[in-house]
Amino acid sequence: MDTVTPDEEFIKNPQIPGPTKEEIRCLVMCKSQVSSDDIVADVGCGTGGLTVEFAKRAKKVYAIDKNPEALNTTFKNLQKHELEDRVDLIEADGTEVLDSLPPFNVLMVGGSGGKMDFILKKGYEKLKSGGRIVVTSILLETPLESIKVMKDLGMEVEVVGVSISKGKISERGTMMVAKNPITIVSAKKF
Ligand code: SAH
Repeated sequence: MDTVTPDEEFIKNPQIPGPTKEEIRCLVMCKSQVSSDDIVADVGCGTGGLTVEFAKRAKKVYAIDKNPEALNTTFKNLQKHELEDRVDLIEADGTEVLDSLPPFNVLMVGGSGGKMDFILKKGYEKLKSGGRIVVTSILLETPLESIKVMKDLGMEVEVVGVSISKGKISERGTMMVAKNPITIVSAKKF
C-alpha cells in the first residue's frame, strides 16, 4: 500500500475541519479496501485529507462538499501532491449529487450535515456490488444513525472506536497528548 501523507504536509484552513489525522487516514484506507481500479465518492471532503489518500490509490475520485471554501482547500492539497488529475471536485450537497455520478466502489462520508440517512441510502443504490461504505465521525449520534441505516440496508456493519495519543518528546520525557476519539463505521455491499 502507498505510504500515508504526514499531517504537516497538508495545507490547513482554520474555517474547515480536517485534515483527518494521519493514523486515522491509515485506518480509513484499510477499511475502504480501496484499490487501483476503484471509483470513490468522497462526501464532505473538507480539506481533502482523505481525498488525497484516495487519489493516490484509486482510479477516480469524486470529491463533494457543499462549502466552496472546503473544495478550494481540497484542490490546493491535491495540487500540492500532484493528484488533481484524478479528482473531480463537485460543489454540492451530498444528497443532491450521488444520483448523477457513475456507479462507484467506495462511498466515503466525512460530513453529512444531519442527512446521513439519505446519503447512505442513495449511496448504496450507486454502490457496485462488493463496494464499501466508510463513515468517520467525531459525534456520537452519527455512527449510531449510520449503523441503523446500514443494517436496514442488509449490510454487515463493523464499528471501530479509535483514540490516538501522540508522544510529545521533550528533555524531561515523553508526554502522551490525546487526540479526539473518532468512530469509523464501515460495511460492504454483497
Ligand atoms: N475528511 C475531511 C474532513 C471532513 S469535514 C478531511 O480529511 O479533510 C466535514 C465536511 O463535510 C465539511 O467541509 C462540510 O462542509 C461537509 N459537509 C457536511 N454536510 C455535507 C453534505 N450534506 N453534503 C456535502 N458536504 C457536507
